[in-house]
Amino acid sequence: MKRNHSNIKKAKKYLDNNNCIAVPTETVYGLAANAYSKKATSKIFKLKKRPKKNPLIVHYCNLNMLKKDCELNNDFFKLYEKLCPGPITFVLKLKKDSKICKNVTNNKKTLAVRFPNHPITKKLLTIINYPLAAPSANISTKISPVSKEDVIDEFGKKIKFILDGGRSHVGLESTIINLIGRPKVLRLGGIEISKINKILRTNLKFNNNLKKIISPGQGKIHYSPGIPIRLNVKKSKIDEAFILIQKRKKSAKNFYYLSKNKNLKEAAKNLYKTLRMIRKKKFKSISVEKIPNKGFGQAINDRLIRASKF
Ligand code: AMP
Ligand code: MG
Repeated sequence: MKRNHSNIKKAKKYLDNNNCIAVPTETVYGLAANAYSKKATSKIFKLKKRPKKNPLIVHYCNLNMLKKDCELNNDFFKLYEKLCPGPITFVLKLKKDSKICKNVTNNKKTLAVRFPNHPITKKLLTIINYPLAAPSANISTKISPVSKEDVIDEFGKKIKFILDGGRSHVGLESTIINLIGRPKVLRLGGIEISKINKILRTNLKFNNNLKKIISPGQGKIHYSPGIPIRLNVKKSKIDEAFILIQKRKKSAKNFYYLSKNKNLKEAAKNLYKTLRMIRKKKFKSISVEKIPNKGFGQAINDRLIRASKF
């Protein structure tokens, strides 16, 4: 506990000095910098090799801070009350007098915001007086990190400081919902759409048409382990890693279980960890058994389809 406290103070120092550092969240680790500082946030783009046109998600600790930057509406309040802090990102109207710097939004009049649910990063957000722009702490298009070791794996010595918060317990990015006008789901993630529909009394669906990308930065290729991926496979080849979600009678060296009993939440948590593990082995390709396209399974399939377009 004492060690966490001194590390949080260290993190604040780096951030106050316009550096970008890695921070833990419940979804994945983020590459964080002061969202009001051009100098700090431009370091995120450089380190991640992120195209300038991809806007960043900004992390807040309370509504008072958020009110300075965004126009809030009824749908937002309903979802905020039930789901925050948690793995959901809202796209809102940016206020004219907001101090969010222009490279965070790519000059847009909208802002993606989130309230992360991780005790260490929550604490950090309460002791700084600016929100944190923080995309996932991986090189653009590569696998997202869910632990300190994963961040080291991505950036090595290029990153100044990593705030360690253990393994991310959701293990998948946030669900993104656009709340300007009629709500629209832009990315599947840590909150199931059915939960959002219940709260808003709507029937939102996710348009999984990868030909038509709606959210900037939600490119076709992403989360890539760098080798081909085949989906909906019943039987793998010998030199392939085989990703499974339920226990098979016979075991084999190339089997990688996301879950042993089709638990899709557990499978989502293990997805990036498993892809990263496989990438380090000498497999020529990856095959994946059919994953039901419902609940978290939909988010897993979305990631796997993008990862397979490497
Ligand atoms: P990540 O890099 O994993 O944190 O993902 C951030 C994603 O948030 C981006 O790739 C965009 O798809 C989405 N995003 C950020 N800002 C906006 C915005 N203003 N409107 C729509 N989507 C956004
Ligand atoms: Mg990302």
